[in-house]
Amino acid sequence: MLNSRNLLSNFKLISKRLLLQNCFLCGVDSNQLLCVACLADLPYQTIRCERCAKPLALAGLCNECQQKLPLYTNVQAVFSYIYPIDKLISVAKFKENLAILDLLGNLMVKYLQFEPRPDVMIPIPLHPKRLRQRGYNQSVELAKCIRKYTGIPLDYNSCQRIKNTRPQVGLSVSQRKINIQNVFKIEKIASNWKHIVLIDDVMTTGSTVEALTKEYLQVGIQRVDVWCCARR
Ligand SMILES: [Zn+2]
Ligand SMILES: [Zn+2]
Repeated sequence: MLNSRNLLSNFKLISKRLLLQNCFLCGVDSNQLLCVACLADLPYQTIRCERCAKPLALAGLCNECQQKLPLYTNVQAVFSYIYPIDKLISVAKFKENLAILDLLGNLMVKYLQFEPRPDVMIPIPLHPKRLRQRGYNQSVELAKCIRKYTGIPLDYNSCQRIKNTRPQVGLSVSQRKINIQNVFKIEKIASNWKHIVLIDDVMTTGSTVEALTKEYLQVGIQRVDVWCCARR
């Protein structure tokens, strides 16, 4: 026969079981997607280029930025693109794990809370063909999550990706510039946009955000920053 005390302890046990899941990375019981230890171990960026956020051994500007400063003003990259961030992003990207994207977006918000607030966030557009294959744009999902916590407006109609490029990784600097030429087309911008932020999941060479920055500066935007989840 159950008395009220038994009922209460059963209830507590059941609700604890419902809340518990396994940490996505190490498998221990956790009440969140990642356990406290795995969350604390994530590879937040440390020493990086002060302009493009490329990981460096010594603080300052990287070689490429010393030769020619990029057109964007500032890059904030939350993580280095190493384990387990590489794994989390690729699971989010190719297995449509929106819970992981939401977690990454949430961590970005915490990291970016003291950054100058832009008029609008613009996720890097995917080519329509790639969008159809994948079903969603991971940069849009990250931006939606940032909007949820900050209220910063989000736009994904002002720019189209009109050329489906091959990946920039492994190309030389000049090949990258040719590969990314005439990739984006700005359709329309709002009259109150002076400062925009481009949202990217992984920034690799920087040539994509540079090309997009150039387009937005040409139509009258005054400042372009980049917020990315991870930097290679
Ligand atoms: Zn864990
Ligand atoms: Zn740099």
